[in-house]
Amino acid sequence: MTYARKNIAEIAGYTPGEQPQGQKLVKLNTNENPYPPSPMVQVALRDFDYSRLRLYSEPSARMVREAAASAFGIVKDNIICGNGSDDLLTIALRTFVDQGGKVAFTTPSYSLYPVLGQLQGSQLCPVELDDDFQLPDNAAQLAEGATLFLLCRPNAPTGNSFPKARMEKLCREFAGVVWIDEAYADFASDNCLDFVNRFPNVVVSRTLSKSYSLAGLRLGLAFSTTDLIAEMNKVKDSYNVDMLAQHLAAAALRDAGYMRENAQRIRQTRLATTARLRELGCTVLPSETNFLFVRPPKPAAWLFKALRDEGYLVRYFNLPRVSEYLRVTIGTETEMQGFIETMARLLATE
Ligand code: PMP
Repeated sequence: MTYARKNIAEIAGYTPGEQPQGQKLVKLNTNENPYPPSPMVQVALRDFDYSRLRLYSEPSARMVREAAASAFGIVKDNIICGNGSDDLLTIALRTFVDQGGKVAFTTPSYSLYPVLGQLQGSQLCPVELDDDFQLPDNAAQLAEGATLFLLCRPNAPTGNSFPKARMEKLCREFAGVVWIDEAYADFASDNCLDFVNRFPNVVVSRTLSKSYSLAGLRLGLAFSTTDLIAEMNKVKDSYNVDMLAQHLAAAALRDAGYMRENAQRIRQTRLATTARLRELGCTVLPSETNFLFVRPPKPAAWLFKALRDEGYLVRYFNLPRVSEYLRVTIGTETEMQGFIETMARLLATE
């Protein structure tokens, strides 16, 4: 006997990556940034007048939208903010998918997508990526009947990107809204932000959690047409971005140069780590993100545990097609050197 709705009681829900408390582990499991946020965030935090917290926050997160408008070259009426981009994904389901309606999403991809569909009570339409984890050419046909298509470019957990021409084809051919989750786009060589002005049915989302080093702050952004933004504004909680988050996120967005330097550093570490893992006999997918998807020459589930015992926390998904891989977030240069040495030792044992 449960008081919950049937479709809630029947599902397991989403399992976030572990946030260890009090243990000394090198945390390479949730794609956080190893470097601190912009020093401008610290200044903004210091200057924040705590007595303002007695008031509600500005409902539309106007100061964040203004800072984002300058940073991304998209007018503020085409932007909506969320309590992290996960909040925006929830808003997407509630705005664009009927209960009993159909939501499409690529697989393997961000494992929250099907859970959001289940919570909404919608039909799930998984679209399998091909053998190279590429978006199929006929993705729109495979998603027929769905009113929302969620996909992530570059993709998580595989780390690879999809050709832009194929993305355009999907946006042209799909009858509903295409949601392009660009959580990792600052680590990639290109992005699809220009689609927002070119297609009436596209939303592009970003997050400050990865490239801006602000996972703990909870700030996501979505860019789209004024029409789609207006519909999503009806659905969001009135005060979904708190006052402190608005203040600090605006400071971070005004210092995008700092973020870009960090992203560049991470890309360099990514390159070096990829080469060394390949020398150790691992298959490493080409990554356009701040993590690597690695198939080791020993069982991934065993290695995941062995690494943890050695103080390195990575992510393992016991799911179809990805259970032979580990997802490893790029940490600092020093952290990755230690990680490689530990991997070398573990892979050398009989
Ligand atoms: N999209 C993808 C693909 C992600 O990996 C994550 C992080 N788990 C998110 C969205 C959500 O990020 P946040 O809610 O921190 O903005």
